[in-house]
Amino acid sequence: MPGFEFFGEEERQQVNDVLDNGVLMRYGFDGMRNGHWKAKELEAALSKIMQVKHTQLTSSGTAALTVALAAAGVGAGDEVIMPTFTFVASFESIIALGAVPVLVDIDDTLTLDPQAVKNAITGKTRVVMPVHMCGSMAQLKELKAICDEYNLILLEDACQAIGGTYENKPLGSYGDLGCFSFDYVKTITCGEGGAVITNNKNYYINSDHYTDHGHDHVGNDRGAESHPFLGYNFRISELNAAVGLAQVEKLPHFLELQKRNYSIIKNELSKIDGISFRKIPEEGVPNYGFLNFFLPTEDSARNAHKALGENGVDACFYWYDNNWHYIKKWDHLKDLKSLGKLPQEIKNQLPDYHNQDFSKSDHWMGRTVSSLIKLSWTEEQVQERARKMAEVLTQFI
Ligand SMILES: *Cc1c(COP(=O)(O)O)cnc(C)c1O
Repeated sequence: MPGFEFFGEEERQQVNDVLDNGVLMRYGFDGMRNGHWKAKELEAALSKIMQVKHTQLTSSGTAALTVALAAAGVGAGDEVIMPTFTFVASFESIIALGAVPVLVDIDDTLTLDPQAVKNAITGKTRVVMPVHMCGSMAQLKELKAICDEYNLILLEDACQAIGGTYENKPLGSYGDLGCFSFDYVKTITCGEGGAVITNNKNYYINSDHYTDHGHDHVGNDRGAESHPFLGYNFRISELNAAVGLAQVEKLPHFLELQKRNYSIIKNELSKIDGISFRKIPEEGVPNYGFLNFFLPTEDSARNAHKALGENGVDACFYWYDNNWHYIKKWDHLKDLKSLGKLPQEIKNQLPDYHNQDFSKSDHWMGRTVSSLIKLSWTEEQVQERARKMAEVLTQFI
């Protein structure tokens, strides 16, 4: 991460293809296109890589989550179980549909704790949404068993984990629906963009229509298309899709580089007694976009993170104090600060997150430090970084 480190001639060529004929929209204008359908091509490429039947591109990863939930029929008052450690997009997409985000604890995988998920299920629960944070995955087999038992939808947020696998299946393809983000800082980027993948034809058709105002996409006269249901505009543009087409070709190379750089650093830090690593489920292979490790205590983690920065080790994160990624700083959610009136269902059903006990999540997040794994580092630079990280971290054990 991130894919923009390797922008080059390929992205330029793809974008110029679009500009040369001037059709920046993914639908219609068949005669002007000279055969260029960048969004369609990227959807086909992603379906192949993800080994799924259907891909629907969207304007962002947040849009992808919203579309996936809408496609599965989630609406006002439905409950969606999500983790305490994620990105704000998780609850934004849920709330956008009038549904209720039910936050539950994570464990040492830094993703949903299956037991916590089970405990949170009510008669209103519709979806379990694991978020494969920082390149590694949730315990999908356990979560799927719970979803099967309670007849729930499993929706994977794989926005940070493209290219990882679980039981040899690409992350995102294991559940009923999977979502990706191609925003500017993700492993592959379109500038802005996202995707929903699924093997469920009905979810796909719903996604296809919902992202484009409910258009049924029958025939080739947009003005004459009917609207089987209400939709929205979550379309990706051809320019963004074109960048994605160049980037997706580079994904195998990006994954190789991430694995090499991650392994060098992990190997070095493994030598330190007192540093342990985030648990990766046995059946899983991460995409190596981040290396996440635990220090012995919250104080040592916070101080070590500070010292890393002061010693020139950039791109390390202490998510526990971060405004975007952990419940501790989400007062706008806890207080339901919205511009306009929210659906009554959300107001009635939202748990009191000010007073809920998330000490299990705090236990892991308080001790977690993450290092981003950049693509552009040379092997020598990674070795130097690993050496420096070890030198700093040793002082906090
Ligand atoms: C980036 C991200 C999103 C949202 O993607 P955008 O394209 O930025 O809207 C959702 N979930 C996770 C885990 C992310 O990292």
